[in-house]
Amino acid sequence: MEKTPIYDLSLPELAALLATWGQPAYRARQVWEWLYQHKVEYFDAMTTLPKDLRARLDAELRIGGMELAAELRSSDGHTVKRLLRLPDGQLIESVLMEYDGHRRTACISTQAGCAMGCVFCATGQMGFARHLTAGEIVEQALIFARQLEAEGERLSNVVLMGMGEPLHNYDATLEAIARLNDEAGLNIGQRHITLSTVGLVPAIRRFAEEGLQVKLAISLHAATDAERDRLLSVNKRWPLAELLDAVRYYIDQTGRRVTFEWALIAGENDTVEQATTLGRLLTGLMCHVNLIPLNPTEGYAGRPSDPARVKAFQAALKAHGVSSTVRVRRGIDIQAGCGQLKSDVTRKRSGGDS
Ligand code: SAH
Ligand code: SF4
Repeated sequence: MEKTPIYDLSLPELAALLATWGQPAYRARQVWEWLYQHKVEYFDAMTTLPKDLRARLDAELRIGGMELAAELRSSDGHTVKRLLRLPDGQLIESVLMEYDGHRRTACISTQAGCAMGCVFCATGQMGFARHLTAGEIVEQALIFARQLEAEGERLSNVVLMGMGEPLHNYDATLEAIARLNDEAGLNIGQRHITLSTVGLVPAIRRFAEEGLQVKLAISLHAATDAERDRLLSVNKRWPLAELLDAVRYYIDQTGRRVTFEWALIAGENDTVEQATTLGRLLTGLMCHVNLIPLNPTEGYAGRPSDPARVKAFQAALKAHGVSSTVRVRRGIDIQAGCGQLKSDVTRKRSGGDS
C-alpha cells in the first residue's frame, strides 16, 4: 500500500484520521508539533506517543519523500542550491541564502516546471509538469530549517521565488504559507515571507483579500505592453493597466508596499528611456523596485546589463521618486537562477553539450 505523505495533511485532516484510529483529541497537536516544531524525520522519534501508535503511523504514513539529487555550494559559502527529487521523479530546486551573517532565507518552488513561459526563465523554458502539494512546498523549507537548527541557527525568511508560479497553484500555496507561519510549527512571521508572481490579475485580487501580511513581489520587467508581451506572454492575457489596477487594489486592501522585479537585459529593457517610462508608470504608487541583472540561460540569448547601464537606470527611476535596489543574483556561480540547476543536470544526463 502507498503510504500517505503526512506533510500533505492539514491539522484538521490529521485530527480526523487519528480520531478514526480511536486516538484522543490531543494527539493530533502532539504529532503536529513533532513534525513542524521538532522536525523529526521518523515516527519513532515521537517519544511522547505510545509505541503502538508510532508503529501504526509508520505503517500507514511517511514523513517527507524528497531525495537530494544534486547540491551546489557557492564559492563564498553563503548560498546552497539543491535539486530535489520528488517521489514521482519530478525534480525541483530550492536555495538557502545567508545574508548579513544572520538572516537565513530559503527560496522554494511551488510547481515542477512552470506554465507561464517567460522567455528568459530557465523554468519557463522547460514547461509545466505539475503543481506541488502544500506538503511539498513546506518540506523544502522544513529541510533547511531542520539543518539550520542542528547548527544552532534558525530559518528566518522564506521567498516563494523558486520554480513555478505560486498564484497558479493558489490553494496549495496559501496552505503552505499558513503552515510556514504557524506558531506551533515553523513560526516564520508573515512579514518574513515573500510571494512573487508574474502577474495573474484575478489571483492577485483574491490574494489581496486574504488578510495576510505576506510581502508581494510582482515580476514586471517591462513598462509598455508591447515590450512586456515579448518577454512575458502572460501580459497578453492581463496587460499592464489591469495588472497595475490589481496592484493598487492590493495596496488599498493591505496597506502594504509592493515590490516590482525587473531583470535588466542588455539592450532589451535597460535604457534610460525605459526607466523613465517605468518611473512615470509607478509614480505615486507605494512600491520599491528590485533591479536584477539577468542571469543568462540556455534557451535565451539575452545578456545582463553592465554596471554603468544599471546605475543610469536606477538614477532615472530616482528622478521620478521611485526607490530601487540592485540585487546581484545570489550564487550566480552555482546556477542559482531558478530552474538553472535542473536544466544543467538534465542536459548533462542526456549527453547534451557539457
Ligand atoms: N513565477 C514567479 C516566481 C518565480 S520566478 C514570478 O515569475 O515572479 C522569481 C523571479 O526570478 C521572478 O521575478 C522572475 O522574473 C525572475 N527570473 C526568472 N528568470 C530569471 C533570469 N534568468 N534572470 C533574472 N531573473 C529571472
Ligand atoms: Fe514561471 Fe516565474 Fe519563470 Fe515566468 S519567471 S516562467 S512565471 S517561474
